[in-house]
Amino acid sequence: MTTVGILGGGQLARMLALSGAPLGLRFLVMDTAADACAGQFVPMVVGDYRDEAALSEFASRIDVATFDFENVPAESAQWLSNRVPVFPNPRALATAQDRLAEKTLFRELGIPVPPFATIDTREQLDAAIAAIGLPCILKTRRLGYDGKGQFRVRTAADADAAWQALGAQAGKVGLILEGFVAFERELSVVAVRGRDGEFRAWPLTENWHVDGVLSVSLAPARVDAALAETALAHARKLADALDYVGVFALELFCRDGELLANELAPRVHNSGHWTIEGAETSQFENHLRAVLGLPLGDTRMLGHACMLNWIGEMPDASAVLSEPGGHWHDYGKSPRAGRKVGHATLRADSTQGLAASLQRIGAGLGRESQVEPVVQALAR
Ligand code: ATP
Ligand code: MG
Ligand code: MG
Repeated sequence: MTTVGILGGGQLARMLALSGAPLGLRFLVMDTAADACAGQFVPMVVGDYRDEAALSEFASRIDVATFDFENVPAESAQWLSNRVPVFPNPRALATAQDRLAEKTLFRELGIPVPPFATIDTREQLDAAIAAIGLPCILKTRRLGYDGKGQFRVRTAADADAAWQALGAQAGKVGLILEGFVAFERELSVVAVRGRDGEFRAWPLTENWHVDGVLSVSLAPARVDAALAETALAHARKLADALDYVGVFALELFCRDGELLANELAPRVHNSGHWTIEGAETSQFENHLRAVLGLPLGDTRMLGHACMLNWIGEMPDASAVLSEPGGHWHDYGKSPRAGRKVGHATLRADSTQGLAASLQRIGAGLGRESQVEPVVQALAR
């Protein structure tokens, strides 16, 4: 019996464990919070990731380790990798944890990125704003997620407020200033690379964010084949360069038909949740197959799919469950503003069918504004 250890016990760990059950896998999660939602049905070690006793206990009970979030201290991943196989490897994790290292690698590989500059002082911020131009966006290099640790600089006068909000982080997690991209759309490549280097990707996904948090994903993205091929080629180059094993997402902006890389998520990704019902093999199952050295599953999709994120609190399930292709996911979390508590996936054989289903759900839940951008995209 193989036990997979997962650092982080959130909804991603929970969905990994759900998808691994038919493969006969056991799981152990480690999290700092005793109420982490994967712990509702997966054994859990509760402890700080830097606590050697807790990490030792975790390591002694597993055969292989992986992650459900990228902010596990890189040293802890390194420590663990001296005891059990860890996938993705700690170097890939460390690169994806630091926006500067990540963007530097993108650039080295010839993957276009928005202009960026590392910021240590207020003077550097002013100089970088002048060099990059307005608008731009100041971000913490590390530990940001769901748009946290970011400040949008629209005018020169915003520099003071940006520094006030994030300047104290300069000496801690570091800061980076990026040009703000007036994108037409946001896309993500969700892909998997096996231990033997085999690479597979799901069809490109189009994403809509609200206040920096993913709101809706649509697959396949409504883009031409050449653009999708370029996106996949970027993802493959990146995975090969990092000797990456497992599932990852490459987030991309599309502006004037050109792709610019935003960030690499070194784990299963929210924009790939639709693969549970919408693809032959889900991102969760393929991540497990990859880290265990098993053959990878087919990533072809079954029709058209749209995922709606539930943020803050769960809506009533019946509007989604009444749809022929409606699927419901409640992560078992307590409600809290801004928190991802669940999602729904709608699957349909045609874009018209998907659009109609989305409109019924939008109306049924009073969430017309959430579904509207997708309905419009499907009508294009
Ligand atoms: P995630 O939850 O995806 O890990 P994060 O906190 O790491 O989020 P980003 O992905 O960098 O943050 O930014 C969140 C969202 O903010 C992006 O998906 C995009 O909508 C917007 N955004 C971030 N950077 C830029 C940029 N340079 N130009 C335009 N929009 C941006
Ligand atoms: Mg991120
Ligand atoms: Mg992101």
